[in-house]
Amino acid sequence: MNAPLPLSATRERATGTYDRVDAVTNEVAGRLAQRLGAETQGEVLFSPGDRGRYATDASIYQEMPVGVFVPRSTEDVKLALDICRDLKVPIVPRGGGTSQCGQTVGAGLVIDHSKHVRRILDFDAEKRTARVEPGIVLDHLNLGLRKLGLWYPVDVSTSAQATLGGMAGNNSCGSRSIAFGNMVHNVLGAQAWTADGELHTFGRYDEATGRAREIGHRVRDLAAALAPEIDKRWPKVLRRVGGYNLDIFRNQNERPYTADGSVNLAHLLVGSEGTLALTHSLTLQLAELPRAKVLGVVNFPTFYKAMDSAQHIVKLGEGSLTAVELVDRTMIELSLQNPAFAPVIRTAVIGRPDAVLLVEFSGGNKAALVRQLDRLVELMGDLGLPGSVVRLEDDTAQKNLWEVRKAGLNIMMSLKGDGKPVSFIEDCAVPLEHLAEYTDALTRVFRRHGSRGTWYAHASVGTLHVRPILDMRREGAAKMRAIAEEAAALVREYKGAYSGEHGDGLARGEWIQWQFGPRIHEAFAQIKQLFDPQHLLCPRRMVDAPRMDDTSLMRFPPSYRVIPLKPALDWSRWDVQNDPATERVTAPGTGGDPAHGYAKAVEMCNNNGHCRKFDAGTMCPSYRVTRDEKHLTRGRANTLRLALSGQLGPEGLASEEVREALDLCVSCKGCKRDCPTGVDMAKMKVEFLHHYKARHGLTLRDRLIGALPDYAAKAARLAPLANLRNRSALLRRLGEKLAGISASRSLPQWQRSHFFNTPVHTATREEVLASALPVVLFVDTFNGFFESANAMAALKVLRAAGYTVHVAAKQEEDGKHLCCGRTYLASGQVEQARVKAREMIESLQPFAARGIPIVGLEPSCLLTLRDELLSLGLGEAAPHVARHALLLEEFLARELAAGRLEALKARLRPLDRRVMVHGHCHQKAFDAVSPVLQVLRLIPGVEPELIESSCCGMAGSFGYEAGHEEVSMAMAELSLLPSVRKHPGAIVVADGTSCRHQIHDGAGHQAVHAAVLLAAQL
Ligand SMILES: Cc1cc2nc3c(=O)[nH]c(=O)nc-3n(C[C@H](O)[C@H](O)[C@H](O)COP(=O)(O)OP(=O)(O)OC[C@H]3O[C@@H](n4cnc5c(N)ncnc54)[C@H](O)[C@@H]3O)c2cc1C
Ligand code: SF4
Ligand code: SF4
Repeated sequence: MNAPLPLSATRERATGTYDRVDAVTNEVAGRLAQRLGAETQGEVLFSPGDRGRYATDASIYQEMPVGVFVPRSTEDVKLALDICRDLKVPIVPRGGGTSQCGQTVGAGLVIDHSKHVRRILDFDAEKRTARVEPGIVLDHLNLGLRKLGLWYPVDVSTSAQATLGGMAGNNSCGSRSIAFGNMVHNVLGAQAWTADGELHTFGRYDEATGRAREIGHRVRDLAAALAPEIDKRWPKVLRRVGGYNLDIFRNQNERPYTADGSVNLAHLLVGSEGTLALTHSLTLQLAELPRAKVLGVVNFPTFYKAMDSAQHIVKLGEGSLTAVELVDRTMIELSLQNPAFAPVIRTAVIGRPDAVLLVEFSGGNKAALVRQLDRLVELMGDLGLPGSVVRLEDDTAQKNLWEVRKAGLNIMMSLKGDGKPVSFIEDCAVPLEHLAEYTDALTRVFRRHGSRGTWYAHASVGTLHVRPILDMRREGAAKMRAIAEEAAALVREYKGAYSGEHGDGLARGEWIQWQFGPRIHEAFAQIKQLFDPQHLLCPRRMVDAPRMDDTSLMRFPPSYRVIPLKPALDWSRWDVQNDPATERVTAPGTGGDPAHGYAKAVEMCNNNGHCRKFDAGTMCPSYRVTRDEKHLTRGRANTLRLALSGQLGPEGLASEEVREALDLCVSCKGCKRDCPTGVDMAKMKVEFLHHYKARHGLTLRDRLIGALPDYAAKAARLAPLANLRNRSALLRRLGEKLAGISASRSLPQWQRSHFFNTPVHTATREEVLASALPVVLFVDTFNGFFESANAMAALKVLRAAGYTVHVAAKQEEDGKHLCCGRTYLASGQVEQARVKAREMIESLQPFAARGIPIVGLEPSCLLTLRDELLSLGLGEAAPHVARHALLLEEFLARELAAGRLEALKARLRPLDRRVMVHGHCHQKAFDAVSPVLQVLRLIPGVEPELIESSCCGMAGSFGYEAGHEEVSMAMAELSLLPSVRKHPGAIVVADGTSCRHQIHDGAGHQAVHAAVLLAAQL
């Protein structure tokens, strides 16, 4: 048996490999890039922007890698490994990059597996196993398994973006780990390359051969030699993920790692955070999908009582108890402030509880689960809390409440200002009998350090998440260390695990020795040595990690500076500071941001990676098509942050790096709605374009599209001439050459006779002001000039419903119609947009002042009133007008609820056709899609079906541009066009002008505005 080596000796052996990226010379980096390009099929990304985007993850850390490699296959991974070994450049493997402790931040070549290396290789229904490549995302795997009644049950909160390779790397654990365990309990085998380039199969130790067997023997000997130490020092909880799993040979976990007590060498790799081997594939143990679930919501008068009760609750269930999750008072209050979630949370709380526990039972038989709920009710009575349980047996009610639990966390993360909830002790795990004292004591620690934390998550396994609010640019690092030290002492006192879910990385690497003691730590160093003697894989982690509070490794070190910038839009709402103890924020504009709030808005992105999701919702269409970090909301926010802080060179915001990153952003506002911290990239893009165009000038296309509302009336007069472009191949080609407008796209047709020159008798200004049922109709450029029928239809519908309709016009007659300025905003021409917007606000303000609704048809125009116009510095009138601006269907739905649509309902004739609805992205961002469905249901016989789609890809002028056409069509092909093609006889309702055009171009189907369908039934 080999005695553990002293750590210093291990370090000496690691000669020749670079510890820090700054040690990799430009020459070596250049050779690396050249060889990767020549010898592999993968993408080689070495620009400052690419490196910067991969320099962070969901932690507080940042370190520039040498470069980034996106392999197309496992063969590419192997080639990259060989090249890096030759050139002595370290490797940092990466999946979704959602680690919270800095695991994927590091010197070397970052290898991103998530784009291509994501196949399911084998599947065995009988044995319920699947073999997968490391880059596959959990939700994508589970989507495929669902129809077979199976799932992979390590249900991490980041399931929509976490890869199986990353989950194995971190030994991840889900909300239901009490029933299913952690990754280590659910991995049956792994194929992986050690640093020497050899591929090994790691599985049952008793079946191991070759090098894997040899490694197994050595680790077994280490475990045997350290047996008393392991028994003494090793945390005896389910949720211990720190260090290497030396205890596979001497189990210390509450739950054995294997069902039959055998030793599995793959478990050595689980939780090794990429430091031992590069994963080629993983064999996973799948589970049966539970057919039924029930939820009991236990309301507690005190947080302490909730914590104290967890230990009793977990004894219920006889195997059917799958989750006990905490939601504390702060989360409840935050959810009650959200109009969407308040009704849901109200059905679950009794009075004003200090905390609730969500207790879930799952299994095959609902009746049996309902009996478990009865037992929960009884137990709570015995514990002195009769009548404290709300029973949720209905599936939808349960799902809604789980959503609220997630949203609560998101709201907490959206705190504005430099103080942010920081993750570094957020997953310490303690035995349940100590949970109440531990949380109580830690709360006192926070208070002593002038901070506080909100508690949530996995009460069932003693892992409660909590993030104290710290300002990392100022005294945050020092406070973090002080709090970490006190928390560690508590963890030791209560015999818990310091790292209980999120791994070690940079935040906890140095604590491994503290947790396990020097001898086990030495053994870990030997394990590293066995696999990777050159320290090629993620050096300076696990066995020789730097200090957690080394500010040179941080994203916001005290030296972080923002370059002063005068923004074109008003970002003052973000330019604030907060009080960590009370979370109170200061007045807008007082945060001291040299970019007046723009930088702070960008910095709201905490890199959690939620924008990598592919499920329902809009965010992020360009990523869904390209799968490139660069074309992801997170990648864009990181690029902007680096540019604003001078980390991308002197050009800053006006650099090509930034332009490229924002180029495929379709300004859909999907992120504004779906991003947990409300990153609004569409608005950020306007600001960027303003500065970029100021430096580089406007293109002909920018001018043509921007000024469209200004020349529309003249162009319409020349309609036959203006429309020639669509009929002439030569003109199309010329248009592409001169203005970059795709020759293969048709443009909207000009009409000589349009809404603005057709005599329509509508109410005068005086008449509408005097009316009992007044409406002001805002007809935008697109519906006014190109599709007048839509505006006419809206008029007809509103009148049929009994309203007095006035068409909004400019106060000073100059022959031009009202315009929101959107076409100018699309190319960053903020000044011109402001002129338009001001005219519009001045014209509409008198109506808004009388409370008269302002109704529009085109989502992107009308909703500009509720969004960008508020950032143009137009004074108090702008929010006033915004409060009264509604899309036609929003207005009708509101009136329906008020019982004022009886006349319209009586007149609508039945329709016997399938009706499908595609929501415009901005409608989705403003929750304005359900009113469309509601209003269409007024037509007897119509049950509209919502097409589950992201952005249509046209996005204003985006899809017309030659350089974007391919991406634009790919976005439409994700789900919109296939859904439309599936039902050729259906009526497709799409309120967006560009959506209708895209549906026409892509599926040859003429979609209609909802107003047209309603009017046709009158
Ligand atoms: C908001 C939020 C909520 C979270 N909730 C949970 C939760 O409920 N449970 C939980 O356990 N974690 C959670 N996490 C942490 C994180 O999401 C998980 O650990 C996740 O499994 C990481 O997956 P990833 O694909 O992003 O991996 P990455 O972060 O990319 O990588 C994780 C580790 O795996 C290594 N790795 C990746 N690919 C390979 C490979 N091919 N070969 C070798 N090593 C590799 C990396 O080097 C790294 O050390 C949360 C994080 C956030 C931001
Ligand atoms: S943009 Fe939003 S969703 Fe994406 S990583 Fe940043 S905070 Fe998360
Ligand atoms: S606006 Fe749309 S395309 Fe742009 S980053 Fe946000 S979600 Fe992605």
